[in-house]
Amino acid sequence: MSECGTEKKGEVSVSILGLGKQGLEDWVEQHGQKPYRAKQILEWLFVKRVENFDDMLNVSVAMREQLKQAFHINPLETVEVNGAKDATRKFLFRLRDGRLVESVFIKASQGSQGEQSQRQTLCVSSQVGCAYDCKFCASGLAGFTRNLTAAEIVAQLLKVEAESGEKVNNVVFMGMGEPLANYANLSAAIKIMNAHWGVGIGGRSITVSTSGLAPQIKKLADDTEAQIRLAISLHGASDGVRSQIMPVNDKYNLDCLFEALHYWRERRKQRLTFEYILIEGMNDSLDQARLLGKRAKSVGALVNLIPYNTVEGLPWKRPSEEQQEAFLRAVKSAEVAATLRREKGGDINAACGQLRLRREEEITAARLP
Ligand code: SAH
Repeated sequence: MSECGTEKKGEVSVSILGLGKQGLEDWVEQHGQKPYRAKQILEWLFVKRVENFDDMLNVSVAMREQLKQAFHINPLETVEVNGAKDATRKFLFRLRDGRLVESVFIKASQGSQGEQSQRQTLCVSSQVGCAYDCKFCASGLAGFTRNLTAAEIVAQLLKVEAESGEKVNNVVFMGMGEPLANYANLSAAIKIMNAHWGVGIGGRSITVSTSGLAPQIKKLADDTEAQIRLAISLHGASDGVRSQIMPVNDKYNLDCLFEALHYWRERRKQRLTFEYILIEGMNDSLDQARLLGKRAKSVGALVNLIPYNTVEGLPWKRPSEEQQEAFLRAVKSAEVAATLRREKGGDINAACGQLRLRREEEITAARLP
């Protein structure tokens, strides 16, 4: 296939962006070069943000050739950008094998008057598709295709910054995919995003969101040095309700999940967040709200209530505003911090997976005879 953006036969296929400091130092050493060369290359990649090895001016021509033989820099090509400059923008990227992923850039002011700062959040994808089949989510509709590499994850951030001319200061792994099912690449990407030799985003400004893979939550608590945040997509406060919406609950039920959350809490200072989409008639009863409040209190979690965003092809809808407010009050009555979110970006299909699905349908349809 010679389609645009699709990998050509014999083309180098490793992006240097995913190597990290150690990987680059090893490579440099194996190629008979001094260690400081790794530092120079990292600077070209993450400070000066070059996209061609020939722009690495203080690297010898011979070494640039060696680098070109082994690596490419940019693993993504921008296909489409939706949304206005000052609002939520959604980026659709094509990977080198032709697959599509998306990132959403969300700007919001925070803080009190006079001390306003902009939170510039990038929601990144960690996989192409998703295997977890959550019933409300568009990402799983077409099933799971593959894990993203660490380079493909980090490159989403670099690309958005390059395209928008703005800085991302907050990263959430809430795009397509289950980050904890792509553990090795996720950890490598977090390290590169967090490191002073990499992108340099503080750990507290990086949030991993999971559907609740209990063993990997514990592993993350043990492994990760950065003070990252953890968000749990809960969406049901009893096993009966949660299993109906999230099949992963049959594997790791709430007892199992909460055991892992306690484990996290014992090792981590950062607060947990529970995400809870409100879906009419599914999980929006006040009994669920009270139970959710109790559960949040038991692990000191913040609760983020999110009115369901309609997904084409799925039957659910969001509850009335009165019901949303009543649910919020019932959660808060357990003395936990809770917010009710007005989804930014719902208007541009920013809920997970939607843009990609539409495009893939168009592309598939165009290919049909
Ligand atoms: N697999 C990870 C990361 C995906 S992000 C996880 O499950 O956490 C999942 C989050 O996307 C959900 O918790 C919810 O906050 C949001 N989301 C997905 N589909 C949605 C929809 N239809 N409406 C509103 N929010 C949605």
